[in-house]
Amino acid sequence: MKKILLVVLLFAFIPSLSIAQNDKKKVISTIDSKQNQYTTIAKQLWEKPELGYLEENSSALLQKELEKEGFKIEKGVANIPTAFTATYGSGTPVIGILGEFDALPGMSQAAEPFKKARVVDAPGQACGHHLFGTGSMAAAIAVKDWLKTSGKSGTIRFYGTPAEEGGSGKVYMVRAGLFNDIDAIVSWHPGDENTSNPGTNLATISGKFRFKGSSSHAAAAPELGRSALDGVEGMNDLVNMLREHTTESTRIHYVITKGGDAPNIVPEEAEVYYVVRNANRDEVRAVWNRVVKAAEGSAMGTETTMTYEIIGGTYERLPNKALATLMHANMTLVGGVDYTREELAFAKEIQKTLGAPEPIESAKIIKPMVFTYGKASADTGDVSWNAPTAAVRTATWVPGTPPHSWQAVAAGGTGIGFKGMLVAAKTLALTAIDIYKSPKILDGVRAEFNERRGPDFKYEALLGDRKPALDYRK
Ligand SMILES: [Zn+2]
Repeated sequence: MKKILLVVLLFAFIPSLSIAQNDKKKVISTIDSKQNQYTTIAKQLWEKPELGYLEENSSALLQKELEKEGFKIEKGVANIPTAFTATYGSGTPVIGILGEFDALPGMSQAAEPFKKARVVDAPGQACGHHLFGTGSMAAAIAVKDWLKTSGKSGTIRFYGTPAEEGGSGKVYMVRAGLFNDIDAIVSWHPGDENTSNPGTNLATISGKFRFKGSSSHAAAAPELGRSALDGVEGMNDLVNMLREHTTESTRIHYVITKGGDAPNIVPEEAEVYYVVRNANRDEVRAVWNRVVKAAEGSAMGTETTMTYEIIGGTYERLPNKALATLMHANMTLVGGVDYTREELAFAKEIQKTLGAPEPIESAKIIKPMVFTYGKASADTGDVSWNAPTAAVRTATWVPGTPPHSWQAVAAGGTGIGFKGMLVAAKTLALTAIDIYKSPKILDGVRAEFNERRGPDFKYEALLGDRKPALDYRK
């Protein structure tokens, strides 16, 4: 009896399943039909890489395209000139799609399988954000097209999010309440494999410590000088001892950004730039406060003065397994990246420069879902605590390529990068459409979000109430 019922149910289900699949195939083919257009835009962003908060050209390009497609643009949001939102549709569910576009300093690289700057000392898209922004935009447009023809209720909002690399751009957008009405965020990031892993990463606070002493002739009147560089070095010594007495996931990094001009002048000014990370943001705050104490102690001992400025601060990511599972199913339907013969030759050359890479064929497959504990940090963390968020990675780079490498910039300027970008665009669009079709999906997503976040959660940005550090790359 049970068996018969199962068979009947199965048959009743199959036609609706295939209608759903056909609908999805249509969405996939509309994105494919605009492949050239999206490749051109991504290429333009790749050819003119812009640093955090200075992405005028990239931001304007994406805005122009979205406006042409009928999105309502709000520019300069959160007091950031290059931040914007582009909204289409009305009513609920409200789904957000994130789009980054900033590049990294000194990473210029040609689309060649060997190290060669396109423009010496210029920035480069070493984290693939030109693909990130354009692919997300392509997804938003496909969702808009679907909303238009389906007549379903729903709003799609693209977030143009500047300065991910050290600028904490999204934090200011969260702080401004721009995510308050969002039911779910579907996002992605370029990578060297296709995954939809729920997981966490590290929260972070970064800042610059500035010491001031008094200069004098280093040989003729050293007793009159008080070295600001001594202040920095004393601080670093104390922090390097502190390092031993922190919890497991703690990471502390620093660079001396100013150390004096000549050895025969006692340095009057010195500056050191710190980053503290931990899997738990409260622990980050605690360690940061101890780093500040080290700076104060050193200033006292070296008879210098010290001030500090917090530059960035981001939450650890809050995973959402329910949303990640839905993304995984859609990415499996879309499939991975197939190389042409030329791309295969390019990939083989690139792999010769990498340690022990995964086989090139792995770009084709979608990896099984696993929970991950990442060691990096991103301003998406703050978004994930304010709206349920899931992000996939797609193989826009040759397998084995790390982010922030010349190999990443190189592949990002070829068909390999553009194909990976379209895998993401399709996955995001299909996931959003699933939610509009069955808003009930959100019940599980929201329940998990509430449970992981806890009942007493109150958002407080780790960078406090400072204004966007618009000049941090100037
Ligand atoms: Zn990135």
